Amino acid sequence: MSRSRSANLFDLIAARARAPEKLALETADATALTYGELFTRSAQAAHALVALGVRPGDRVAAQIEKSTDVVVVALACLRAGAVLLPLNTAYTLAELEYFLGDAEPALTLCRPEWLERVRALALKLGLRRVESLGVNRDGTFAEAIAAAPAAFETVKRASGDLAAILYTSGTTGRSKGAMLTHENLASNALTLIDCWRFTSTDRLIHPLPVFHTHGLFVAVNVALISGATMIFMNKFDPDAVIAAMPGATSMMGVPTFYIRLLDHPGLDRGTCANMRLFVSGSAPLLAETHHAWRERTGFSILERYGMTETNMITSNPYDAERRPGTVGFALPGVSVRIAHPDDGAPVRAGEVGVIEVKGPNVFAGYWRMPEKTAQEFRADGYFITGDLARVDEQGYIHIVGRAKDLVISGGFNVYPKEVESEIDAIEGVLESAVFGVAHADFGEGVTAAVVPRPGAALTEQAILTALGGRLAKFKAPKRVIIVESLPRNAMGKVQKAALREAYKDIYRA
Ligand code: AMP
Repeated sequence: MSRSRSANLFDLIAARARAPEKLALETADATALTYGELFTRSAQAAHALVALGVRPGDRVAAQIEKSTDVVVVALACLRAGAVLLPLNTAYTLAELEYFLGDAEPALTLCRPEWLERVRALALKLGLRRVESLGVNRDGTFAEAIAAAPAAFETVKRASGDLAAILYTSGTTGRSKGAMLTHENLASNALTLIDCWRFTSTDRLIHPLPVFHTHGLFVAVNVALISGATMIFMNKFDPDAVIAAMPGATSMMGVPTFYIRLLDHPGLDRGTCANMRLFVSGSAPLLAETHHAWRERTGFSILERYGMTETNMITSNPYDAERRPGTVGFALPGVSVRIAHPDDGAPVRAGEVGVIEVKGPNVFAGYWRMPEKTAQEFRADGYFITGDLARVDEQGYIHIVGRAKDLVISGGFNVYPKEVESEIDAIEGVLESAVFGVAHADFGEGVTAAVVPRPGAALTEQAILTALGGRLAKFKAPKRVIIVESLPRNAMGKVQKAALREAYKDIYRA
């Protein structure tokens, strides 16, 4: 790329959009936006940012509810050369204090009802500006948008300039800010558009949150750069998704969405007749869910894998077999290797190792944590994801769990996924989570939390008996806890750290 050309992601979006009157964001309320309106409103919002003192490279924190204005703010940040820092609205004021203190945003956008308390917090932290933005174009920032001029000259950016900082969910230690560049986001979106065949004829159901990489970057960037329409839902509501399907072509969701939709009587082949693609990611999709979906709808869900730091890494194929329980192959342009966790040396074919990744998709490091960043990269530039996987004979990647969730019992490695798959196959089991708990004899004891299907009467003993002979003895759980549900975060990921904490004393006499 020549030095004079800008690598601003916004320019890529604007260059691809050819129909200003076409809906970019369709909504059930009055906040829908055509491409023309989205570009005008984002120009106004970019003016408002600049007027509030935001300069290129400054951070803009946004803890606001999902609405089309989140997309407006995201584009305005790109246009003004600012760095977007989206935050889950579930975060408390104490959590917000950490993020704002760490990122030092030039501007914070919050919900209108939080304006006073966030302003008080900003004052305490010595931060400059706080404005509010509500879901109905209300709040002080909405007023600033409405009053601003409708044309804005997008700031030039180099490919390595930051576009966003996304804080990782941080199940252990401090949450880290993953610095994502314009190139990271642009390259990944273009790759996904190609692999998943997105075009301007697509109508994508978008029920995901927009503070996370999945809803914000995978869905929004892919749809906008394709010139497609998003059916933008402020939250996941199975009735609304089923109602939207006949007029949609595609959907992106987390496994929990698919499980909830399978419970809906309205899901059938007729409802899906106009659809071409269902994508799942952010947490493992059970093979059982994949099979049940295919039986009901005729569609194989396309499972992909990625993380905040790397954008998307692998995907099942569009044209060839989508193998249940796998995350497919490395995306074009992305190098993936399965390495020995200790030294990064390649493992033998078929063995479990840690997924390491290199490519234009991989982030620029953790915000103000150079040492932490250095620890997570190998000397040859590969990022250590911390996910354990093996590759099967046809090259499909099977994720077996997070390295930190690996259970080492009596010196043997136990991969939770393998034990969970056996437990899930037992009659009456809805789902399970396997984790390690300190054990005086074994170091760690394999422990299982099991959720029964409605109406099923399961006991610890019944599960242990059913597992007898199906797993090597060292892999079998020492204790099984029957629970009503598993702790999950907003993306549907099971929080194993919470389980380890809750049952940490289970093997103490
Ligand atoms: P996040 O940074 O919140 O997107 O979380 C990334 C993590 O989610 C990865 O490191 C994986 O552990 C997990 N993950 C994402 N997609 C999948 C998938 N398809 N199957 C299994 N785990 C996944």
